[in-house]
Amino acid sequence: MLSFFPSPYPDELLYSTLGRYHIRSGNNSPKITLKELYNDNNTIATVDLPCNIDALVNQLPLLSSYTADELIDNHTLYLFYSPFLPTKRAITIKNSMKANYGGNIHTRIGIVASSIPLLPFLRFCPDCLKEDEKQYGEAYWHRIHQTAGVLVCPHHGIPLHNSTVAFQRLNRHEYEVITPQNCQQNTSIPYYSPQALKTFIQLAQDVAWLFKHPQSPQSMDYYRQRYLNRMIERKLVTASHRVHQKSLIDQFICFYGRHILEYLNCMIAYNDSSNWLSNIVRKNRKVFHPIRHLLMMRFLYGSAEAFFKNEDNYKPFGDGPWLCFNGAVDHYKQPMVTNLQISHCLENKKPLGTFTCSCGMIYSRTASDKTPKDNYRIGRVITYGEIWEKRLQELVEVEKLGLRATARALKVDTRTIKRYVHKLELNASWQSSTSQPKPANTQLPDHNNPKLEYRQQWLDLQKTYPDATKTTLRKQFPALYMWLYRNDKEWLNEHSPTLQRPVSVNNRVNWEERDKQTKLQVEEVVTQLLNFDVPQRITIGKIGTMTGLKAMLEQKLDKLPLTQAYLSEVTESVTKFQNRRIQWAITEIHRRGEEVKTWKVMRLAGIKEQEFERVEKIVLNMKENTYFY
Ligand SMILES: [Zn+2]
Ligand SMILES: [Zn+2]
Repeated sequence: MLSFFPSPYPDELLYSTLGRYHIRSGNNSPKITLKELYNDNNTIATVDLPCNIDALVNQLPLLSSYTADELIDNHTLYLFYSPFLPTKRAITIKNSMKANYGGNIHTRIGIVASSIPLLPFLRFCPDCLKEDEKQYGEAYWHRIHQTAGVLVCPHHGIPLHNSTVAFQRLNRHEYEVITPQNCQQNTSIPYYSPQALKTFIQLAQDVAWLFKHPQSPQSMDYYRQRYLNRMIERKLVTASHRVHQKSLIDQFICFYGRHILEYLNCMIAYNDSSNWLSNIVRKNRKVFHPIRHLLMMRFLYGSAEAFFKNEDNYKPFGDGPWLCFNGAVDHYKQPMVTNLQISHCLENKKPLGTFTCSCGMIYSRTASDKTPKDNYRIGRVITYGEIWEKRLQELVEVEKLGLRATARALKVDTRTIKRYVHKLELNASWQSSTSQPKPANTQLPDHNNPKLEYRQQWLDLQKTYPDATKTTLRKQFPALYMWLYRNDKEWLNEHSPTLQRPVSVNNRVNWEERDKQTKLQVEEVVTQLLNFDVPQRITIGKIGTMTGLKAMLEQKLDKLPLTQAYLSEVTESVTKFQNRRIQWAITEIHRRGEEVKTWKVMRLAGIKEQEFERVEKIVLNMKENTYFY
């Protein structure tokens, strides 16, 4: 545990606070500082989206009251990105920041390969620097100054200066504090016209507002829908919801001016039909850079604050909360639903509401008549949720209720019950089903001819665990084994490990204890492997060599169930490793400031030419799904 920890200053980057800790600790090696801060010396010193924050909070002095969430929300750039990510991804990213996440959060969040690059250097405002020294006796790195798209200080309205500290550093285990040496005022500050300066100040204020007023992530369609609402008023959208693309681009460029958009890497080309402005109001699954959303908000609503505070007075479903129709909980037909997302029905263009209840039920309906009766219409059920499905299973399999009684109990019709019993593969007493249970435990795709797929999986397992016996594999992957045993027995016998290693049983060994110890050692080595600058494939052999437990891991694994389960999770097949290497190569190319091209990725990741299509697919997929437009 740390004996002291400097209090973070207002809007100070966590990176900066940790740098100040290093100086005050008097440690001469940054590695010692890392060990003290995280009880682990492989954590990477990341400026914007750091990881391993739970471990840090654990090390804080007893009386310190900082939580991981506070540190993330107030001292990292998380809240700049999170409102614009799909909910699930925003949660995953926050969890990765808390955990000892070995991968690169930039890749995960979508900043890598974005058309808006990361900053090359940490930046500072000369006036803030002076004021901080006066007020606190020392200067510090301000979070808002390190945000892409913020070119001026929102407090002083003057352009930010580059320091000499690189944003992505070669020595990734060191925190650099602000010093007079690394923050010299450079004369090469760009000259912004008064008009540009005004826009940049407003944009910086929008970002400052976002940091002060955390916004929840939204559904993928939320922002588009809100922009369209305003565009309808501005006659930029036809009655049939077609966007007048040319007028939109004209008005947008006219509103900001070409130079300003170029400074922000947000200029739009008329001849490029997939430009970001056209895309951001088009139905798609792309994620857009926060700066582009802020530009849209200012263009259509006046500011980010106006956007988030103004709900457009558009309430086709009246005021909430709305009714829940989950027959398995005690709030059936009670106003419990507070989460409503409005989109438009593709067929009749009517507003379509998606109602999500905290009990897990989600349903949608279009807004038609405005009579109170309409509130009792359920529309289309998207899911009844886990609670309901569990209750169904109990009624059908444990209480063995009849079809009608089950339907009555869950307040739905018998057709619904039949459908879900089939879908969930339940064994109902009133149903004569011969459906075979599907193999689980490994990913088994719904394939017309699963045999080839399963055979491949069986072969891959043997490559991943070259020393595992058939029995070990059977125990570890029972579903896959049983499927092959039932449907492809002859092939299975010919393609299984033949060598049965005799295992001498030594009763005096406490295997349970040994299992726990081994797992800890293995975990430590895996963390190290994941933190290597150049990715290393994680195999049992390599872990064995690094832990000095090679023989045990290869021959006694079936006595170490915890270790075995952990290994099966983390070890990588060739394909899995290649995929990680590809992700790494993409990040690396981007870090060097080069354009991400498939052939470059292949060369850096050391992937053979015949795999071109596969790599191209990954690169395109990454651009499609985790790329900020
Ligand atoms: Zn300032
Ligand atoms: Zn509910």
